[in-house]
Amino acid sequence: MAAVQIPAPHSIAFLNRRHRLWIDGEWRDPRGGFQDVYDPASGTVIAQCPLASAEDVDDAVRAARRTFDARVWRGMPAQERARILWKLADLIEANAEEFAKIEVLNNGMPIAFARWMMGSCSHWLRHFAGLTQQIFGRNASAAMSGGGMQVHAYTAHEPVGVAGLIIPWNGPAGTFIIKVAPALAAGCSVVVKPSELTPITALWIAELAAEAGVPPGVLNVLPGLGSVAGQALVDHLDVDKISFTGSTAVGKHIVKSAASNLKRVTLELGGKSPCIVFDDADMDVAIPGAGMAIFANSGQVCFAGSRLFVQKKSYDRVVEGLAKFASSLKVGSGFDPETMVGPLISEKQRERVTSYIESGRRDGAEIVTGGGAAPGQGFFVQPTIFANTRADLKIVKEEIFGPVLVATPWEDLDDLIRLANDTRYGLGAGVFTTNLSTAHRVADRLQAGNVWVNTYGLMHPSMPFGGYKESGWGREMSTEGLEAYLEKKSVFMAL
Ligand code: NAP
Ligand code: MG
Repeated sequence: MAAVQIPAPHSIAFLNRRHRLWIDGEWRDPRGGFQDVYDPASGTVIAQCPLASAEDVDDAVRAARRTFDARVWRGMPAQERARILWKLADLIEANAEEFAKIEVLNNGMPIAFARWMMGSCSHWLRHFAGLTQQIFGRNASAAMSGGGMQVHAYTAHEPVGVAGLIIPWNGPAGTFIIKVAPALAAGCSVVVKPSELTPITALWIAELAAEAGVPPGVLNVLPGLGSVAGQALVDHLDVDKISFTGSTAVGKHIVKSAASNLKRVTLELGGKSPCIVFDDADMDVAIPGAGMAIFANSGQVCFAGSRLFVQKKSYDRVVEGLAKFASSLKVGSGFDPETMVGPLISEKQRERVTSYIESGRRDGAEIVTGGGAAPGQGFFVQPTIFANTRADLKIVKEEIFGPVLVATPWEDLDDLIRLANDTRYGLGAGVFTTNLSTAHRVADRLQAGNVWVNTYGLMHPSMPFGGYKESGWGREMSTEGLEAYLEKKSVFMAL
């Protein structure tokens, strides 16, 4: 086995700082105190997270408002904003290995995944840097003119204002960039609240953004508690837009709070995504594909393929194959290059996930493999597969956000579609088949914002990402993701 190389915390300079809040282009002491930050693979403390108070949030929103109203960023030539975002991408790339190590240390994800994620951060930033010069309105003058009336009519796309961006812990740097890149490309000033569990990479990116040329006050980063800093941001009357990634329960709460000044709201919430295997699938693709659909990032993925539906004839073979695949995955520290499944983020999440496993057991579902916490000091859970489930079980209905899969056989295609869509969520769906016609017909009938055929979880900044039903509001990535940070103004001019 390859040697496990866990970097001593002191080998990563930024990690080892005394962390503070990034407000108006400088580090400020938090007024909400500090909280321990853990390495979930060992349960040891690696840093102190500064906690923003409501007053700190107010300071950051004022700074963002000032820069927005003074057109410090939005008034900069688009190509200059593009150059700065591109430079930030370069700075992240230059530090990508250190960033990846912090992500592993703080989130627990396998190092290969962390490296991919950091590469994606630079890629996504460059994509949106390009889009700064692709913000176009339309001209309806011809449609409105004639009969002695000459009108010049056009739409202008303008940045929505001060955007509050609330991000989770399951992909700290990636979820930061997915929101910050389009918001800055659009010309907004932003206040970001990273999860207090994983604040480090966001704070480092804030400092690099200043180095790249983002003016003070345009990008503020304030880790803190959701109930304090998150709530203060959502309640703030000078915030024009909230983009939130997290649980559906908190998403619904945010919608109610945002009603105060009718903030624009984008929500990327939970899922209980179906993964469907047909008899005609290439099983060498389908089995590891369906396996990683749920076990990647230990199941802590909003679009995790947590419900497996296998055509009856292949059911035993696929469930057996998946059980073998699951038990072959190495569970351990993300720094071990052989690790495929890292720890969960926290003791609390591990308890939550193992209590779901217990409920499945109590409800009479059959555990095919796994079935509880995995040994070690970290917050590990075994990749777990349930068979003989029923549609009304908690483990089938609710998002578990851990490495837990529920398997169900199906015979009739209409029944399958009904089962697959029988969820309040609608984020992702996987289809494994070699029949092109089947693939298209099923993709058409699935109620999900993202459908993957013979693959799972592909994302690209040129494709919109988001959910149907209770998986969210709006889209991220792509032009839709940019438009989420733009207001549209119609200008009518009689000539
Ligand atoms: P969560 O409570 O929804 O947290 C997500 C983010 O929202 C965090 O930064 C959180 O801060 C913040 N938040 C909480 N309450 C808030 C409020 N009243 N106003 C504004 N922001 C608020 O999720 P969690 O507690 O970390 O995890 C619980 C479950 O949520 C998971 O098991 C999973 O089902 C789901 N989840 C989904 C995603 C996703 O990608 N869709 C990501 C993470 C979690 P705190 O950290 O202080 O809570
Ligand atoms: Mg929470």
